[in-house]
Amino acid sequence: PDTLLDVRNLSVDFRTPRGRVKALRDISFPIRKNRIIGIVGESGSGKSTVLWALLGLLAKNAEVTSGEVRFGDRDLLHASEAQLRATRGEEISVVFQDPMTSQIPVLTYGRQMRDILYRRPNVTTVEKRRMAVEMLGKVGIPDPDKRIDQYPHHFSGGMRQRAGIAMALLTGPQLLLADEPTTALDVTMEAQIIHLLQDLQKELDATVVVVSHNLGLIAELCDDVVVMYAGEVIEAGEVHEIFHNAQHPYTRALLECDPARIDDVSRKLPVIPGDIPDLTKPLSGCIYASRCQRAMPICRQQTPPTITRGEMSLARCHLLDGPHHDPDWPPPLDV
Ligand code: SF4
Ligand code: MG
Repeated sequence: PDTLLDVRNLSVDFRTPRGRVKALRDISFPIRKNRIIGIVGESGSGKSTVLWALLGLLAKNAEVTSGEVRFGDRDLLHASEAQLRATRGEEISVVFQDPMTSQIPVLTYGRQMRDILYRRPNVTTVEKRRMAVEMLGKVGIPDPDKRIDQYPHHFSGGMRQRAGIAMALLTGPQLLLADEPTTALDVTMEAQIIHLLQDLQKELDATVVVVSHNLGLIAELCDDVVVMYAGEVIEAGEVHEIFHNAQHPYTRALLECDPARIDDVSRKLPVIPGDIPDLTKPLSGCIYASRCQRAMPICRQQTPPTITRGEMSLARCHLLDGPHHDPDWPPPLDV
């Protein structure tokens, strides 16, 4: 598949009272066209920071210290605010975790959706309403020609998230970003939203990035997966590679915690003993060494090699290559 957007060697620091937090370090992965890619990691892994970087909406105390985000012939990290505003909403749009905080409670959906189309001065108000009704219908809102005149508080949680998806898709973006899109929902609604995103992705030929700590959701929804740990991409690949043949000890620890429940969408990321390293301190060796069951002395000293297979697949670990290569690693993963 073609690459729609390419994250290359992205590093981001946050300036904080505790010092510089090296929140993302040399992140690279392609976002392949017409696919759904999941970015998974525990809190503090940097997965949300990646999402905000893609939107050009990093916090004020963030500093991009290296890299680029290629979108066609543009670099979104070094685009002007005007260029970014034109890209956001039109070509790249976002579905938020909690529609209650991202939707405007005092405006009807019809009014909010008309406002989203403000860059289309040649489209009449009547036509904008028709487009909005059609999109609300597409995301499964019943009687969209009536519900469009209602306010967010008239909608159930699931319906509000459907409306959020309709608003994000209204401009026909090439790339849809979703930040933990089902966290505010119960399991039944969560499954419905996952299937809706899958259907819409196919129907609209969109590319979708989902940030989540929910492995079940990633397994259900995604084609490609990027696994983040403490600000690095430690493994990436197609979803079947990751879930059936993970190479990195961290990914495997996540999967082995409770393999029987991997298809349960309510499953949250398991807790692995230990803490992520302090990202304000100098870092050396493998970022996962303090928690890794297979850690060797070299792991604290030398950066592990990156193994790549094809355009999407990579894993970083001394067990996979070099003098500490273990030919019996990884053992079969029974999930
Ligand atoms: Fe574990 Fe060493 Fe591999 Fe890091 S490089 S994941 S510490 S075995
Ligand atoms: Mg987050």
